[in-house]
Amino acid sequence: MAEENKPKNDFNPFGGLKNNGKIKKPKFNSYWIYGIIMLAILATQLFTMGGGAQETSWKVVQDRIIPNGDLKKVEVIRNKGIVNIYLKPETLEKYSELNSNSMFKASKLGPHFYFTIGDIEVFEKRMEEAQKKLPQEQRIYPVYTEQRDWFSDIMPWILPLLIIAIWIFFFRKMNKNSGGGGVFNVGKSQAKLFEKGDKTNISFKQVAGLAEAKEEVEEIVSFLKNPSKYTQLGGKIPKGALLVGPPGTGKTLLAKAVAGEADVPFFSMSGSDFVEMFVGVGASRVRDLFKQAKLKSPCIIFIDEIDAIGRARGKNPNMGSNDERENTLNQLLTEMDGFDTNSGVIILAATNRADILDKALLRAGRFDRQIQVELPDLNERKEIFDVHLKPLKLDKDLNKEFLSKQTPGFSGADIANVCNEAALIAARNDKKSVEKQDFLDAIDRIIGGLEKKNKIIKKEEKSTIAYHEAGHATISWFLEHAHPLVKVTIVPRGKALGAAWYMPQERQITTKEQMLDEMCATLGGRVAEEIIFGKISTGAQNDLEKVTKSAYAMISIYGMSNLVGNVSYYDSTGQSDYSFSKPYSEKTAELIDSESKKLIDNQYDRAREILLEHADGHKKLAELLLEREVIFSEDLEEIFGKRQWEIPNNI
Ligand code: ADP
Ligand code: ZN
Repeated sequence: MAEENKPKNDFNPFGGLKNNGKIKKPKFNSYWIYGIIMLAILATQLFTMGGGAQETSWKVVQDRIIPNGDLKKVEVIRNKGIVNIYLKPETLEKYSELNSNSMFKASKLGPHFYFTIGDIEVFEKRMEEAQKKLPQEQRIYPVYTEQRDWFSDIMPWILPLLIIAIWIFFFRKMNKNSGGGGVFNVGKSQAKLFEKGDKTNISFKQVAGLAEAKEEVEEIVSFLKNPSKYTQLGGKIPKGALLVGPPGTGKTLLAKAVAGEADVPFFSMSGSDFVEMFVGVGASRVRDLFKQAKLKSPCIIFIDEIDAIGRARGKNPNMGSNDERENTLNQLLTEMDGFDTNSGVIILAATNRADILDKALLRAGRFDRQIQVELPDLNERKEIFDVHLKPLKLDKDLNKEFLSKQTPGFSGADIANVCNEAALIAARNDKKSVEKQDFLDAIDRIIGGLEKKNKIIKKEEKSTIAYHEAGHATISWFLEHAHPLVKVTIVPRGKALGAAWYMPQERQITTKEQMLDEMCATLGGRVAEEIIFGKISTGAQNDLEKVTKSAYAMISIYGMSNLVGNVSYYDSTGQSDYSFSKPYSEKTAELIDSESKKLIDNQYDRAREILLEHADGHKKLAELLLEREVIFSEDLEEIFGKRQWEIPNNI
């Protein structure tokens, strides 16, 4: 149930890779269905014979029409095997009861009836037979015609055209989905081009923090602006730079700023744009991109999420499916080798997984520079807040320092999101300016999801949640290295039913003691349930998952167990595939299991001791929580006294 206010790029040692290659499905436009239906109706209209004649049988003609002498004309349409019967106009009335067709009256001229025949000669014989009794001058002899109807004549032409049209339509649809033009452009690059002097231009001023990264890319700007300065002395201008860092840290922003500052065109594309369901499309898009870029040189090509195509070749276990991606990557490598170093095209690419990229991409002459774009620290967060608070109407008393302290682990994109969300919350409450509380609500919402005040929770459940959360809070209060508590709530939010929020310190390295303390505090929830209610619930699943991961990491990755020793089975290069075989023996696996269990059991016992020792306080806290739903560190201070360990100021 505890949802810690922690950096969100959780360390996940054996985590799988995200699949970046999206397949876009074409959508079928309903207008086409209407069109086809219309055509079908038209066709049946044209096929109904004689414009409204009534179908009848030879028998009617033989027994009624001919003996009565009402027949005016018999027309045999040879190519269709149809006989049209024309009646004398004054006799039409007699046959109206045979006629279900209302058109009958409208077309006085006829034909009035028709029927189909098998063989013309047989029909002629029958006609003769039927008219034997009539006087010679009253006998009618069939006339023969052929009916060309344009529709069935052109149908063989129309049909393939129609199919081609539908085909083109699908392709265009598909292309549109991936941002491109018509069917013949599948292989064209889908890059968005930002021309020089566009209004959307971004300058370095809009990129806050990231001082080192900025310094490095400033050099690239200088290459583009004044290449001769470098080439004069025989130096080669680098072809590409790779921006590496977690999502939302401003990699795209930085690349755009480079283009803006250098005042050159900027081609922007995502790695997944190269991936299409057709073979060879990716490679041809790469070729096209470079062709276009050379025409616009000097310019910048930016490929976001390059890991979608740049993943190490031949490592993917689902064989065959990645051939297309490999071709694309090979083409990219070829193009990067192919163009002249001094041609003025610089390629920037962004990824958050530099470790899984193919080594060939990182070789000299390709992406030979790597620029780290890290999550912002306290000061950088303040700068980013400065940028994003500028357009907002703020309350006078708002303290930016406070905001940056409240947002450890947030990326630039998260901060931009907080600012926007805060403004929306303030507007919803009809405020004139955005206040501190709006920002706090926005932060809560971004970390924990939307509050669900209306979720129905039974009374016993509520009390279980309260004691569980109070357990976390109590234990963390008495542990030196546990993160200082900010607040505890039992208002359901997102998926969590309750949460204890901490202020994580920004550490570069974490000691074993710190990890153990955190583990102990995380187990506090389950311990509290066991002590108070004598039974345990599923509510601690999230806590247990966290504890288990951390215990295994301590032993098999950080080498923190004496028995297993100073070994680390984590492969940061991502080149070996541990999902099939573990890099250690069965015996070691057993040892890792038992050591992890021992670690967790020890911390569980420790948590239990602490909770039993402070049982009164724990109970008070839980009751207070049930009463108020949200409590802050001040309330804990009132119950337990001042926390022994001050909140360090360096966060
Ligand atoms: P990335 O490409 O690293 O995933 P983006 O560059 O797309 O991240 O960042 C998304 C948004 O977050 C940007 O448009 C910007 O509003 C905000 N942002 C991220 N980092 C910064 C920063 N250092 N300074 C100012 N804004 C930032
Ligand atoms: Zn919990």
